[in-house]
Amino acid sequence: MSWGRGFRDPELAKRIVEKIHEIAPRKDTVKICHVCGTHEWTISHYGIRSLLPENVDVIAGPGCPVCIAPAAEVDEAIEVALRDAVLTCFGDVMRVPGSSMSPLDAKARGADIRVVYSVMDAVKMAEKEPNKEFVFFAIGFETTAPSTAAEILRKPPRNLSFLVSHRLIPPAMELMLGMGDLRIDAFIAPGHVSTIIGLEPYEVFPKAYRMPTIVAGFEPIDILLAIYMALRQIRSRVAFLENEYKRAVRWEGNVRAKELMRRAFNVVDGNWRGLGRIPDSAFALKDEYLEYDAHEKYNVRIRVGRDIPPGCQCHLVIVGKIKPKECPLFMKTCTPQKPVGSCMVGIEGTCRIWAMTKQF
Ligand code: SF4
Repeated sequence: MSWGRGFRDPELAKRIVEKIHEIAPRKDTVKICHVCGTHEWTISHYGIRSLLPENVDVIAGPGCPVCIAPAAEVDEAIEVALRDAVLTCFGDVMRVPGSSMSPLDAKARGADIRVVYSVMDAVKMAEKEPNKEFVFFAIGFETTAPSTAAEILRKPPRNLSFLVSHRLIPPAMELMLGMGDLRIDAFIAPGHVSTIIGLEPYEVFPKAYRMPTIVAGFEPIDILLAIYMALRQIRSRVAFLENEYKRAVRWEGNVRAKELMRRAFNVVDGNWRGLGRIPDSAFALKDEYLEYDAHEKYNVRIRVGRDIPPGCQCHLVIVGKIKPKECPLFMKTCTPQKPVGSCMVGIEGTCRIWAMTKQF
């Protein structure tokens, strides 16, 4: 490892790594789970795993919203697009596999599907072309849900409706703790989600599960510090909630963003690709905004889809049970250019990150 490569303060990084080696347990394997595609990118890009003691394993949980979007909801989006509505979505949603095709495949078949950079782009399109019907496919965690909520509360043009596919991170973390074969020793919680939801939703992990939980930022130093903090808690056998990302995350989070979500959405059970149904893990439009619900408008409800294509191991990669290179298709038949599963599609997908950082 070249310490000069990429680290802004290589000396500081070196000192933290030395501390990590000092306090890491000598024998037992320690499993630290993060739940964030951007954390995985930093860890992979800076080769952080190679700096850790061999028995400290950092695994990637379900931190990529495109990867966990269920095929049935992608199928619904494609269905409305094939019925002459204009489907708008973020760029990395275009190639996410539905049961039989992706939005990109549907576009090749003539569906009008347009990439937008924000929900506001979809609003502007609907205003500009009042004779067309538009649907915004709202995929994302608590980071993007407030902007969807804000537009809905502003009452956008009636020719725009929404397929709300937002998901909430803490319930997925709780689900992982119930997986007996996973045996997680500590969580690193996502910094950007935490800027919105604050610290309180994570309290359950140290309190009810005695799980060390550290909210971390995205610089390589942040990640190293979070790993050090996790190991310090594991060593002391006292679990608590620690905020490594104090420069951005406050206890209460973003009060205004939370209020927007509370006014626009109900919290409901949600399906996650590769994980199944997770209680209280999704948003649905409140009754007073049902006129903007594309499910209602197009009478489309697809309950079951084909989430995992044959041979794909995304259901194991998504919870860190295997690393991407343990999938037999990785960089053989499944590549960033020709993805098979959703983890190779999203820019925050673990397989895609491992492919782009040449970990094969
Ligand atoms: Fe699925 Fe491809 Fe990842 Fe294998 S490498 S788990 S096929 S996305």
